[in-house]
Amino acid sequence: AQRLLTQRHEVEQLLAPLRLSRADLERVQALMRQEMERGLGRDSNADASVRMLPTYVCNTPDGTERGDFLALDLGGTNFRVLVVRVMQEGIHMASEIYVVPTSVMQGTGEALFDHIVECIMDFQRKQNLMEQVLPLGFTFSFPCQQLGLDKAVLLTWTKGFSASGCVGQDVVQLLRDAAQRKQHVALKVVAVVNDTVGTMMACGYDDPKCEIGLIVGTGTNACYMEERKNVGTVEGDEGRMCINMEWGAFGDNGCLDDIFTTFDRMVDEKTINAGKQRFEKLISGMYLGEIVRHILLAMVDKQLLFRGKPSLKLQTRDIFQTTFLSTIETDGLALQQVQGILRDLELDASFEDSVLVREVCQTVSLRAAQLCAAGLAAVVEKMRENRGLAQLAITVGVDGTLYKMHPHFSQNLQQMLQDLAPNCAVTFLQSEDGSGKGAALVAAVACRET
Ligand code: ADP
Repeated sequence: AQRLLTQRHEVEQLLAPLRLSRADLERVQALMRQEMERGLGRDSNADASVRMLPTYVCNTPDGTERGDFLALDLGGTNFRVLVVRVMQEGIHMASEIYVVPTSVMQGTGEALFDHIVECIMDFQRKQNLMEQVLPLGFTFSFPCQQLGLDKAVLLTWTKGFSASGCVGQDVVQLLRDAAQRKQHVALKVVAVVNDTVGTMMACGYDDPKCEIGLIVGTGTNACYMEERKNVGTVEGDEGRMCINMEWGAFGDNGCLDDIFTTFDRMVDEKTINAGKQRFEKLISGMYLGEIVRHILLAMVDKQLLFRGKPSLKLQTRDIFQTTFLSTIETDGLALQQVQGILRDLELDASFEDSVLVREVCQTVSLRAAQLCAAGLAAVVEKMRENRGLAQLAITVGVDGTLYKMHPHFSQNLQQMLQDLAPNCAVTFLQSEDGSGKGAALVAAVACRET
C-alpha cells in the first residue's frame, strides 16, 4: 500500500505542471489580449507573437452571392481542388483530394506549385472544366502578409511544410508562374483565404452571427471580425475587417514560458520549426500524441508504467497518434481496448497501466481545450467591448478533426470558455467542407463587390 501511495505521489508530481489552474488560464487570456492589441498596433507589431494579419475580407456572406467558382485548399494533411456552385437554393460542390508527399512539402517551391497545378489540371479534366475560366479562391493556410485580397506574401511555413523559395513571395504569383510553366494559363485567382476565414465564411452563410473562425486540426488558429479603426496596419476607419490572428505563434516571444513543461520542450525540440508555433504545439493534433508519448516515457523511466520495461517502439517519434487519445478517452471504452492499442506499441499493459495511460491522455487533451478556451475568451471579450455591449451573442465556425472527433475536447472548450467569458453567449457551429466553400464565398463576395 505504501508503494502505491508513493507511486501515486510521483504520478501527481509528473502531471502537476500540465494541470492549469483557473488563475493560470485567466493569465493566458490576459496575455492573449495583450498580444492581440500589440499585433493590431501600427508600429509595435514587429515583436508581437500574435500577428493579427489583415485579410481584406470585410463582410461575411449575406446570402445574395451567386456563381460557379474553383477553390483550392492547401494547408494540412491533404490538398483539395473543388468546384463550388453558389445558387439561391444553396451550395453544391464536387471535389477531389490529392496527396502532397512529404518530399514535395519539403522540397522546392517550384515542385510544390507544379504539383498543385497538375492537380488542378487533373481535376478540370475529370470535371469537364477545361474550357472555362472560373474565378478561383485559394485557401492557403499559412501565415501571409496580405497586400490585397489576391496578393499574399508567405511569412513562414508551419505544420511540416518547408518548400524552398516561397517565404517572402506572393503565393498567387507562385501559382501563376507554375501555371505558365505547365502551359496552363487560364487561372483567374481572385482571393487568397486562410482556412480560419474560409470556415467563418462557410458557417456565416448559414448563420449571420458567425463572426469568428476556429481551426483545431493539424494546427490551430483563429480569425474574427475586428473594427477597422482598430487595425493600425490598414488604412480606413469604416466598418470591419476579418483579422487572421495566427494565434498558433502565441508565446513565441517567451510570454508563455512558465506554461511549457519539460515534455512540451522535448516535443518542440524535435520539430522542424523549434521555438515557433508554441501555442499550437500545446493544442493541435500534430503534437498531442507526441506530448503523451514523452510523458509515458518519463513514467516508464520512473518505473511507474509497464513495470519499467521500455519498449523500442514507444521511443519512435510520432508513434503515439493523436487519434489514440480520442479512442482511449472514449466513455465506456473497455480497458481491454486500451490494452490493445498499447499492445500494438509492443507494450504489455496491466489494468493499472491502462488506467494511468488514460489519465495522461485526459490531462493533455484537457489542457489543450482549456488553453484554446482562454484564447477564445480574449477574442469574444474584445469583440464585446468593441461593440460597447454588456452581453454579446456570437457564433464560432469551427473545423478540424481534433475538435470534431475527440470525445471531450469541444465540451471542455465550451465549458471553460463560459467560465472565462461569462458575458458572452457563444454558439459553436461545425463547418462541413468549410475551407473550400469559404474560399468560394470570399471569391463570390469579391465578385459581387467589383
Ligand atoms: P487539417 O487541419 O490538416 O486540415 P484535420 O483537421 O483533418 O486536417 O486534422 C488532422 C489532425 O487531426 C492530425 O494531426 C491528426 O493527428 C488529428 N486527428 C485525426 N483523427 C483524429 C481523431 N480521431 N481524434 C483526434 N485527432 C485526430
